[in-house]
Amino acid sequence: MVHRRCPGPLTAFVPTASTLPATTARLEAFLAAESVDTPFLVVDLDVVQERYLRLAAALGNAELFYAVKANPAPEILELLVRHGCQFDVASPGEIDMALAAGADAAQLSYGNTMKKLRDIAYAMDRGVRYFAFDALEELDKIIEVLAARRDTVDPGEVIAFCRILCDGAGSDWPLSRKFGCDVDQAVELLVRAAEAGLGLGVCFHVGSQQRNPHAWHDALQVVAQQLCAPLAAAGHRLEALNIGGGFPGSYLSGVPTPEEYGSVILAAVREFFGDHAPRLIAEPGRYLVADAGVIQTEVVLVARKSVHDQHRWVYLDIGLFGGLAECLGEAIKYPIATPYDATSPVGPAVLAGPTCDSVDVLYEEYKYPLPLALVAGDRIELLSTGAYTTTYSAVAFNGFAPLASYYLPVSED
Ligand SMILES: *Cc1c(COP(=O)(O)O)cnc(C)c1O
Repeated sequence: MVHRRCPGPLTAFVPTASTLPATTARLEAFLAAESVDTPFLVVDLDVVQERYLRLAAALGNAELFYAVKANPAPEILELLVRHGCQFDVASPGEIDMALAAGADAAQLSYGNTMKKLRDIAYAMDRGVRYFAFDALEELDKIIEVLAARRDTVDPGEVIAFCRILCDGAGSDWPLSRKFGCDVDQAVELLVRAAEAGLGLGVCFHVGSQQRNPHAWHDALQVVAQQLCAPLAAAGHRLEALNIGGGFPGSYLSGVPTPEEYGSVILAAVREFFGDHAPRLIAEPGRYLVADAGVIQTEVVLVARKSVHDQHRWVYLDIGLFGGLAECLGEAIKYPIATPYDATSPVGPAVLAGPTCDSVDVLYEEYKYPLPLALVAGDRIELLSTGAYTTTYSAVAFNGFAPLASYYLPVSED
């Protein structure tokens, strides 16, 4: 049986038992069997379903578009299709995955702001109608693709979502700078989109693993006051408002509940838009899948660099290149469960991956408190690893296979 342990009382980051995510009995049973080679990810689809329903309820009448990049497993996409979820896609490959899972093209939003002309055409020809952009050149690609389809696609069916800059403050994995334009440019571009006959939308992303719900409040205020107001003055109105993702997984630092996010967001929409709110869209990725997954990994080596070393180096059979890229900069700190019980003494450790690349260190600044009894061959679990792991895994760096994954089907109800 796997014992879940809270890292010991060593540093300010240490969570309390209540902040450790609960694994499910089904996950524990799968992990305890030790019948599959490590490393692997196992995902409980019951948890994905529960998360989807809970967030959908918390966000009122917002439509949910799952950000496929968080975990594009067909099992997840098919489950979400059954619940009427829509999808945020970023490439023809993700469009194909969503369509293969049974999604309707009209339920897809092409949210990537950097698209090849031929990829926009590909999406348009499959029936995708929502496109994001943050630059004149990108908007003009959308207009150009539409112009070539004058006889088949009515531009009014298309919504062009202008992405505005957000600084990502309060988030652990900011998506700032690279995406979005300032609101003045957004107003100009949206006027141009309107003149081309397109429906108008705005989108933003307040940063992934955003731990402060008020980040949405501030972004919504900017949209209402600095964007919608000048647009309205020019005679145009927003059809849809996409508030992005950012809803958190349960890692070492505590996070608000979905209900807390929902109440801040819905109150801000009421405050700034009153009865004239555009269609509201949210694009959760991480929140729907992170806590549903556990990675089981094996300890390959426990070593010290000198007899004076205060801490051990613990090398696992998974690292940055095996799917844990979000440990870059130690941004995301996964809770860890070991086979030792809570009374086992712990000491600080540096955690590293198995490849011959010195970048392949998971946590070094943060000395993870791990049982002193830990030895090579022990299987340990990285919790809340259902998001942004399988897709970040390298094809075969150093000959290590990409991260295997297993999906426990939804229980019959
Ligand atoms: C990645 C991404 C999301 C999902 O973000 P999470 O923080 O995982 O919820 C949503 N929208 C867009 C455009 C994205 O790129």
